[in-house]
Amino acid sequence: MISASDALRELRDGNRRFAAGEIDADSIASRVHKVGMSGGQKPFAIVLACSDSRVPVELVFDQGLGDLFVIRVAGNIVAPSQIGSIEFAASQFGTRLVVVLGHSNCGAVIAALKELSLEQTHRSPNLRAIVDRVRPAVEPVLQSHTHSDEATLTGAAVRANILASVDKLLHGSLILEQLIEDRELTIVGAEYSIETGKVEFFAED
Ligand SMILES: [Zn+2]
Repeated sequence: MISASDALRELRDGNRRFAAGEIDADSIASRVHKVGMSGGQKPFAIVLACSDSRVPVELVFDQGLGDLFVIRVAGNIVAPSQIGSIEFAASQFGTRLVVVLGHSNCGAVIAALKELSLEQTHRSPNLRAIVDRVRPAVEPVLQSHTHSDEATLTGAAVRANILASVDKLLHGSLILEQLIEDRELTIVGAEYSIETGKVEFFAED
């Protein structure tokens, strides 16, 4: 399995190609036939991303089938089933990198902000389960941005929500904590810009 820093480089390079419009849509489909996949999978990165239809993970990183283990949920929240999926992939495949991928103008983050501003409440307990996981991350942002315009506030809240999910993964699982301690797993946050198609990683290398 490739190292976390090599995996990060692959993702950065792939996103560079995507943002530059250099990817060939046919190439993704053609990789199915080239690589025999029935023998198993060896995804080089695990990505926890939002379900937003504008953020198709394999495409924005220009990766093919079998490359990424992707978990998508509105607001890229961390609940037990997301942690379990990551534990499974990290221990089963030896994948070294986890990326929490949020994005600009995230509807789940905006919903949490609106609810905090008492503009809207969610009656569905299922939808509430998502918003309730976003709210603690964005509440301090709302308090510290009382004079900011809406775009600045939303941008800061999106970042805070990504970092909160990273933090929950860093401290929410004994299995993941052990892998991190053994230097076998790295977890980083990243933000996809719907406007530019570029992913900014919150990591040094
Ligand atoms: Zn979203």
